[in-house]
Amino acid sequence: MNLILMGLPGAGKGTQAEKIKEKHNIPHISTGDMFRLAIKEGTELGKKAKGYLDEGALVPDEVTNGIVEERLSMPDCEKGFLLDGFPRTIPQAEALEEILGKLNKDIDHVIHIDVPEDKLLQRLTGRRICPTCGTTYHVLYNPPKEDGVCDKDGSELSQREDDTEETVKNRLEINIKQTQPLLDFYKEKGVLMPINGDQHIDDVFVEIEQKLK
Ligand code: AMP
Repeated sequence: MNLILMGLPGAGKGTQAEKIKEKHNIPHISTGDMFRLAIKEGTELGKKAKGYLDEGALVPDEVTNGIVEERLSMPDCEKGFLLDGFPRTIPQAEALEEILGKLNKDIDHVIHIDVPEDKLLQRLTGRRICPTCGTTYHVLYNPPKEDGVCDKDGSELSQREDDTEETVKNRLEINIKQTQPLLDFYKEKGVLMPINGDQHIDDVFVEIEQKLK
């Protein structure tokens, strides 16, 4: 099964990607992960990508499309794949069509994990982290035993700088603008599969599985 996974920050994409990958035994291809690994290993690709990732900007298409083509050509993609973080723009979606054409493949479904914006805001701004041990909490969904204090080492919990309401709102707006044309693109092709992401993790996965069948 050839799949694309889409969803805004905080929608639970990473969690569902893990489950889909395991259940269907297909590689999870995340362009973000590929770039981060290349940077960590100091490869040529890493050197090219680093500046863009540091700024949160998109890596140029000739680089990104190239690594996606290379990855999709590998033998483990014969039985299917789960693309995550790609395509991010219409030109990338068109490039993907071309790549898949060359490989004699097609996209079967675009799984869109849909969560209302106000819920995403709540999920993202409620995150708290322990500056000492790195444990993460959520004020509503996974609170520490004592308000604002780490269960493990008693440190005072803090909020990541990019998790404040203003920054999160900004990030969401940019993402919505980027994502909408892609959702329209795949809807027109008849492969868009909307999933209600505003439910328990396990129920989101049940809905995905039901619709894939
Ligand atoms: P992510 O983990 O998907 O949020 O991606 C992290 C970073 O990797 C992004 O901010 C971009 O700099 C880069 N990146 C990931 N996917 C793409 C893509 N499809 N096109 C261009 N840059 C990307």
